[in-house]
Order: sequence, then structure tokens, then C-alpha cells
Amino acid sequence: MDRSDIRAIQDALNHLPLQCRYHGVKTEPPSPLHEACCDTGLPARRRQQAQEALDRQRT
Ligand SMILES: [Zn+2]
Repeated sequence: MDRSDIRAIQDALNHLPLQCRYHGVKTEPPSPLHEACCDTGLPARRRQQAQEALDRQRT
């Protein structure tokens, strides 16, 4: 991936919340039926997963 592409994605990720208001960084879903700890934590959960994917691109 191009360096400017990575920066654009990183900038977008930075607009998502880092933590769930209720569960902090512990946004793991309680069961496979859920995507995150709760609806409020969903953006933070997606940010974490996207960040991990982005970090894998950099190496
Ligand atoms: Zn939560």
C-alpha cells in the first residue's frame, strides 16, 4: 500500500473513538453473536481491528 494511502486511512481511524465510554479499551464482544462489548463500543472496536490491520500493512 502507498504511504499516502496509509496516512489517509490512519487519519480516518483517528476520528473514531479509542475507547468505549462504558467498557474502556475492553471492547471484546461477550459472545460471537456480538461485534463489540456494546453498541457504544462498536466504533472503538472497529478502530482497534482496523488499526491492527493497518499495522500489519506497515511491516
Ligand atoms: Zn461497551
